[in-house]
Amino acid sequence: CGVFGIYGHPEAANMTYLGLYALQHRGQESCGISAADGMRLRTHLGSGLVADVFKDDEIFNKLSGDASIGHVRYSTAGGDNIRNCQPIAVDYARGSVAVAHNGNLVNAREVRNALEEKGSIFSTTADTEVIIHLLARSQSDSLGDRISEALRQVRGAYSLVFLTETRMVAARDPHGFRPLVLGEVDGAYVVASETCALDLIEARFIREIEPGEMVIFDKNGMTSYHPFEERTPSPCIFEFVYFARPDSTIFGQQVYQMRKGFGHQLAREHQVEADIVIPVPDSGVPAAIGYAEEAGIPFEMALIRNHYVGRTFIEPQQSIRHFGVKIKLNAIREVLQGKRVVVIDDSIVRGTTSRKIIKMIRNAGAKEVHMRVSSPPTAYPCFYGIDTPTRKELIASSHTIDEIRKYVTADTLGYLSLEGMLEIAGAPKGAKGHFCEACFSGNYPVKFPRLKSDDQLG
Ligand code: 5GP
Ligand code: SF4
Ligand code: MG
Repeated sequence: CGVFGIYGHPEAANMTYLGLYALQHRGQESCGISAADGMRLRTHLGSGLVADVFKDDEIFNKLSGDASIGHVRYSTAGGDNIRNCQPIAVDYARGSVAVAHNGNLVNAREVRNALEEKGSIFSTTADTEVIIHLLARSQSDSLGDRISEALRQVRGAYSLVFLTETRMVAARDPHGFRPLVLGEVDGAYVVASETCALDLIEARFIREIEPGEMVIFDKNGMTSYHPFEERTPSPCIFEFVYFARPDSTIFGQQVYQMRKGFGHQLAREHQVEADIVIPVPDSGVPAAIGYAEEAGIPFEMALIRNHYVGRTFIEPQQSIRHFGVKIKLNAIREVLQGKRVVVIDDSIVRGTTSRKIIKMIRNAGAKEVHMRVSSPPTAYPCFYGIDTPTRKELIASSHTIDEIRKYVTADTLGYLSLEGMLEIAGAPKGAKGHFCEACFSGNYPVKFPRLKSDDQLG
């Protein structure tokens, strides 16, 4: 998911709309905007892309006020029910509050069960709703205390933006799994999942919201707190591999350059004699440029993507996912005919897409197809907000690299090593700690309840 917030801007909802546009790659299933004018909080939500949900001027007339937050969603916890659109906005004893969440709470089920036993009635299946219940039940007089009290009871990944009638609050979990940046435009404060959203509205990047930090924005400016127990930060390295937009800078590092560096390292680790290097667009492009540069093999675009089709994996339905590849990509015979080809992608998840792509490349006349992947084998599911499938659906959880090579029908297959990836990434800048790489190593920084089905939390 992606989150955005702006405080103290006359065009707050319009700015949020633009910010969500820039974050659309983080979720296409649904979106929403809340706005506050000092007296009231109003929200508009819907399924689909930002451009489709917000197409009437009337919506923006309703979303008046100088503070606004927004969300783009793809389903991790909670499924794709329309009721799970965010921001989640409620009225409770002390007023109105809306919340937009990127991440996944690993103990949401336990907390929810406990609250339901005490009589709480939930209206969504999303993990985020427990935060609302916890803050509404808090006896504290200050908003900051209510929010921090609620957040001290949940574990896992959260980059959050809250909005009340008069205030905005941003918070990031002590591990800092998901990015959250702070900026400024025309004297208004901005928070966003990625810097590409700041760029679009011409906001100046100030700094990141730190792991474990909560920031309250009100009429007097911004105040920073560190209300949580300190943890070793573990920002998500998969943001660099795949999820974030290449023009963003997150965790202190530029995403495109990081991806290109992964490509350089991949070429050093897995050389092969070939005529051309081609990416699987779009996610494989920066790494392929890096690979070609380091290997001294010409870079070509031999697979052309139809940009009117969403990111395959974000479509939650297996049937659509299955269709996706042919709708999405076509090969250029004139580039591939008779060639020894290195094809680069960012990751192999189920292996089904890669298999079809390699078939497509061969059908277009390639003589040899060598697949190179700019991350290590994805062998473990993510519990911190990236929508990886269950363990048994991950091809690398139960197959050797040579078995995967046979399945995807590549002549050779090489993955970036975990050591190589971490060496290129270095330490997260500006934070102690190390990257989370649990989907590659199984080394989970935050424990989660044992699940019968080995499934995602829901
Ligand atoms: P596969 O060969 O595993 O079917 O698909 C790999 C390609 O699809 C890569 O380009 C990757 O970016 C994308 N992809 C497909 N499904 C998923 C998924 O469930 N999670 C992630 N992270 N990427 C996926
Ligand atoms: Fe990111 Fe993987 Fe860790 Fe999930 S498990 S937070 S995708 S590195
Ligand atoms: Mg891809």
